[in-house]
Amino acid sequence: MIVAHEVQKYYGGFHALKGVNLEVEAGAVTCIVGPSGSGKSTFLRCINQLESIDGGAIWVGGELLGYRRRGDQLIELSDGEIARQRLAGGMVFQRFNLFAHMTALQNIMEGPVVVQKRRRAEVKEEALALLARVGLAGKADAYPSELSGGQQQRVAIARALAMRPKLMLFDEPTSALDPELVGEVLAVMKDLAKSGMTMIVVTHELGFAREVSNRVVFMDGGQVIEAGTPGEVLARPQHRRTQEFIAAIL
Ligand code: ATP
Ligand code: MG
Repeated sequence: MIVAHEVQKYYGGFHALKGVNLEVEAGAVTCIVGPSGSGKSTFLRCINQLESIDGGAIWVGGELLGYRRRGDQLIELSDGEIARQRLAGGMVFQRFNLFAHMTALQNIMEGPVVVQKRRRAEVKEEALALLARVGLAGKADAYPSELSGGQQQRVAIARALAMRPKLMLFDEPTSALDPELVGEVLAVMKDLAKSGMTMIVVTHELGFAREVSNRVVFMDGGQVIEAGTPGEVLARPQHRRTQEFIAAIL
């Protein structure tokens, strides 16, 4: 479903991604862990084309990101075509980024109605079902300021799902939450994983990684240092840097 091959990213002179490789099978959950500044968010942003890459290639669902083939030439995609590719991935950030002036329901309906131009009645029905799915059936008319952080994040997940993405990307979705609200968001993500959604999750929640993910990737210094099953990477890390990171977080 997702293949990243030797991905390079520079911010000016700073080399943020130094040849990152990753393969994610359809329906699999991959957790990316690693210290601050290791390039985790940058890598997610490249997969969702919020950043362009400076080398290597990324495929999502068999489509090469940013280019199309004409004969044996690669032609850069237009902004519109990139926007279309970007819709394959639903993204959930640390900060919930809900529209403050819209209710939960309106937040969820906005993308499908305005961007995807789908019928309002059909979108509303789906949005209400999504609210129920994230445990917020009664909160359709609540504004973000009337919701807890955990509830806001669950609306943000429903909003991303409303676009019918092929994969979901989560960038530390629980790290801005009060500890007692983390569990309810992780529970929604766990359900989503069970439903067969392909997911990449940047997280410090090693319990979630252990329980839910198929693969764990440890990044440091813009590189993948170690990747494998949760048992391999979290319980029996081979690399000294992985061992130190896990020891520090537990
Ligand atoms: P954290 O755990 O703190 O979120 P991260 O692993 O997500 O860290 P990134 O945000 O991907 O790390 O950043 C990787 C490196 O790239 C960092 O050194 C950061 O300072 C740098 N960086 C990120 N975004 C930019 C930017 N827009 N311009 C310049 N440097 C950047
Ligand atoms: Mg980050």
